[in-house]
Amino acid sequence: MQVRVDSDLCQGHTLCAMAAPDLFALRDEDGHAYAPDENVPAAQEERAQEAARSCPERAVQLS
Ligand code: SF4
Repeated sequence: MQVRVDSDLCQGHTLCAMAAPDLFALRDEDGHAYAPDENVPAAQEERAQEAARSCPERAVQLS
């Protein structure tokens, strides 16, 4: 599984980072989220799905 954040949709709510703190980081300049490593370890897949569900902007994309 891979995870990406659509930076055009992200509004910086940080809910994704709360759901999966190991998968997301927040940019200092605007508070928007990004995935430092797009490859999701198998043990983190459930958290990645929770992060996608929790994002109000549907900016968390899994593939
Ligand atoms: S929850 Fe969605 S909108 Fe909020 S920081 Fe995460 S990706 Fe961005």
